[in-house]
Amino acid sequence: MESRAIPFFEQVNRHFDKAATLTRFKPGLLEQIKACNNVVHFAFPLQRDDGSIEVVHAWRAEHSAHKLPVKGGIRYAPHVSEDEVTALAAMMTYKCALVDVPFGGAKGAVRIDPTLYSDAELERLTRRYTFEMVNKNFIGPGIDVPAPDYGTGQREMSWIVDTYMAVAGNQIDSAGCVTGKPVSLGGIRGRTEATGRGVFFGIREALADPAFVSATGLEGGVEGRSVIIQGLGNVGQHAAKYLSAAGARLVALAEREGAIHDPAGLDPEAVIEHRAATGSILGFPGASNLPTTEAALELDCDILIPAALENQITHENAARIRARVVAEAANGPVTASASETLLERGTRIIPDIYLNVGGVVVSYFEWVKNLTHVRFGRLDKRFEEASNARIMHAVEELANVKLDAARFAAITAGAGEAELVDSGLEETMIAGWRAMSETSRRLGTDLRTAAYQIAIEKVAETYLGRGIFP
Ligand code: NAD
Repeated sequence: MESRAIPFFEQVNRHFDKAATLTRFKPGLLEQIKACNNVVHFAFPLQRDDGSIEVVHAWRAEHSAHKLPVKGGIRYAPHVSEDEVTALAAMMTYKCALVDVPFGGAKGAVRIDPTLYSDAELERLTRRYTFEMVNKNFIGPGIDVPAPDYGTGQREMSWIVDTYMAVAGNQIDSAGCVTGKPVSLGGIRGRTEATGRGVFFGIREALADPAFVSATGLEGGVEGRSVIIQGLGNVGQHAAKYLSAAGARLVALAEREGAIHDPAGLDPEAVIEHRAATGSILGFPGASNLPTTEAALELDCDILIPAALENQITHENAARIRARVVAEAANGPVTASASETLLERGTRIIPDIYLNVGGVVVSYFEWVKNLTHVRFGRLDKRFEEASNARIMHAVEELANVKLDAARFAAITAGAGEAELVDSGLEETMIAGWRAMSETSRRLGTDLRTAAYQIAIEKVAETYLGRGIFP
């Protein structure tokens, strides 16, 4: 199958090479940007609950240290490899550059199926992995800052920060060694839902862009659009909730065990509850079961959102995709050759390196919060409220009206952390879309190539600014 025949890192580099032809940089600089700076492979023992010892394989790849720290999630999955982690680290470099998040790219992975391990085993494993990273200088608030990804979440980030603090000593910025932490351990409101929220903002911006609307024929915004989502994990379920709340119709949802279809639209919260209660999305009341999870990808819809893993749309099924837009919430869900097939058939792709940046954007806010040791909004929320109230009192006096208390409070409310994070994420997604869309028109290229072109320009400028490549 193509997905395994062409290594993932090579696929990322194909996108890079296509965009690099649209830049003015010399081959040496482009080679340096593409190269993965450091990769470490760990093989450490894990004592299982039954007393047996298992050797666990894990990696951390630091793709580009042109900016520090480097940043990227940690994945727990049975299929991970050095190639996969390197490819994902490279994509982090390009994502951060595209939306002006001042980090280089990194990624970590542990080769396990987390569903086959007890909580105690996962805790021992995560703490040992962290210890290995500390030992090799692959983690630290100014060095390399992990975050959640496929198969990990707040719980694993808590074990990481606790282990880091225990072994790395009393550094004042220790909490910034990892993001995606619970709020009680220095996390930030809005991080858990950030990637899915960003996916929603990105799709909303696309459907508000006249050039994209005329290319796809999808007029009228998100409301009423038919959407299919593959993967109801962190990214997929939050994207589903925000799109559904904005009036999109979720006509099919796919998970590992299969897919369900209902042309009238599925309620994502109810499907998630059904899955939690029965262990499967299949058998959801009112929906029909599809024979395979892959079958959902080939149904007719406006927007198909792969939100599970890479290599889901390959040369084998690309010609059967009927969606007008493929919105890449996962990393690398469409292979390089499948991208070309989709583009030739008129399907527009909203690329991963733009669409799923929400997680790293809000992680950046969390890291800034950890370094400053102050919650966003703490200093100015009440001040803003008091100034707004003064203005509104003056307006009431001049207009001789009196607003009711609830309306007055809604108008004058100051922004707390959650509102500021959401605003920063929305701004980033809007600015990112505009830059990508404008570049794609100017260069006469697809959106992914435009996104890579912008990223290459920004990383190259950093190197050139240091005088490394005259
Ligand atoms: P997750 O582990 O929370 O969820 C992934 C979901 O996909 C799980 O529910 C799993 O059962 C399902 N799945 C796996 N194989 C499937 C298949 N063949 N068909 C249908 N469903 C399948 O992971 P996540 O954090 O939501 O990450 C999903 C993707 O988004 C990954 O590519 C990840 O790299 C990317 N991503 C995640 C973040 C983040 O903040 N978590 C940020 C950027 C990108």
